[in-house]
Amino acid sequence: MMKKNDIVTITITDISHNGSGIGKTEEGFVVFVPELLIGEIAQVKILKVLKNIAYGKTVKILTPSVKRTVPACQVAKQCGGCVFHHTTYQNECDIKQQLVKNAFRPMGENIPEIASAHPSPKQEAYRNKMLLPVGYDKDGNIVAGFYRARTHEIIPCSACSITYPEFLSITECILSHLRKHRIAPYTEEKHSGIVRHIFIRRGEHTGEIMVGLVVNLKKNYESVLHTKELIEQLLLLHYNIISIALNINTKKTNVILGEETITLHGKKYLTDTMNGISFGISLPSFYQVNTLQAEQLYLKALSLLGDNYETVFDLYCGIGTITLNLARKAKKVYGIESCAPAVEDAKMNRDANGIGNVEFICGTAEEEAPKLVKQGIVPDAVVLDPPRSGCEESLLEMLCDIKPKKIVYISCNPATLARDMKYLTDNGYHADTVYPFDLFPRTFHCECVTLLTQK
Ligand code: SAH
Repeated sequence: MMKKNDIVTITITDISHNGSGIGKTEEGFVVFVPELLIGEIAQVKILKVLKNIAYGKTVKILTPSVKRTVPACQVAKQCGGCVFHHTTYQNECDIKQQLVKNAFRPMGENIPEIASAHPSPKQEAYRNKMLLPVGYDKDGNIVAGFYRARTHEIIPCSACSITYPEFLSITECILSHLRKHRIAPYTEEKHSGIVRHIFIRRGEHTGEIMVGLVVNLKKNYESVLHTKELIEQLLLLHYNIISIALNINTKKTNVILGEETITLHGKKYLTDTMNGISFGISLPSFYQVNTLQAEQLYLKALSLLGDNYETVFDLYCGIGTITLNLARKAKKVYGIESCAPAVEDAKMNRDANGIGNVEFICGTAEEEAPKLVKQGIVPDAVVLDPPRSGCEESLLEMLCDIKPKKIVYISCNPATLARDMKYLTDNGYHADTVYPFDLFPRTFHCECVTLLTQK
């Protein structure tokens, strides 16, 4: 029987959904090991044993894969956010195609073709947003970084190859301000302290930067946070910081953002463009993190949908990035989104771009779309772009009832995409192909888009 601290030799035959190599010992025991590639033979130290599987870490790679590379990121090992720094980008795309195929296995025979993953135009410095928890390190220094996997220990973010380099200097500037004025980081256990997270977002095409602090503080911002000095320091550092904000979160929760955002300096919105349309994005609103690749994804979604519609619903529409493109394809477009600030942004973006045939509704897709249908507003096409949890079954049921000709489904989670597609294909729809888009290079995440048509 295998036990903790055993050293075993395994051959990797598969990759798990979160990027670990999966191999078997000679006795046939399955072991999951991060950073190993298919075909590699390695000596592995067992860290944890469950009934049928074990987890381990590499002691020595006996036979390295030809697809192995030296990680481009200095902190790849400690941070854990990226899992594919140790292989070629082509292999990463191949693995992602396979992971999407694996996610569709539970669908049974009715499996669509899974296309090869569309590679991202950038694999480094693509991420336009960073949200770093602030806390203390072991020696009591104020730091910001990433949580070590399955812990609340913060690993300082001294480097990050997937975000813009200026995010690091901005983070360092904020941290030295906090240290100088002894402004305490928030601690979840005691629900005390002030600064919870550092938020930074940059427009890929405009270079505009928004900086935010998520704080456990209801008043006296200037005296507690020395905001005037912080603003001065930040503006000296980067001329393109166009907005500095506080997001107020005084709740005992692990939800990162609070409901109120206060602009301390500059604009309430960051501006960026996507496929030539200009968008204002306020701090709490969702905005795809890899702009260049998201533009490609949207173009694919729009071409799958086709043209000449009466009424289109864009469900989970965010700030209207897809909705405003749909305006050219239909007489009337309805965007539905549950995050109120995003709906405000969407309306502003529609008006700023002079688009007249789009209406935005604030509420959940599962509640608001049926209300429109009851009023006799029935879509002939629908775009779905839900969060990781996918769509509520009641929404899918309603769609199968009203039978729009086409449904384009964009998803950031292949598992819930497969689940929801099973429902739709069991109830009147057909899909040929799922197109993976690598929106998140180096991480195990993969976006997909597919078209479902009435059988
Ligand atoms: N289509 C947009 C946003 C996609 S992200 C874009 O490409 O930018 C998913 C969005 O769904 C987020 O903006 C989130 O706030 C919103 N959301 C989450 N649950 C929802 C629900 N039940 N109904 C409507 N919107 C929801």
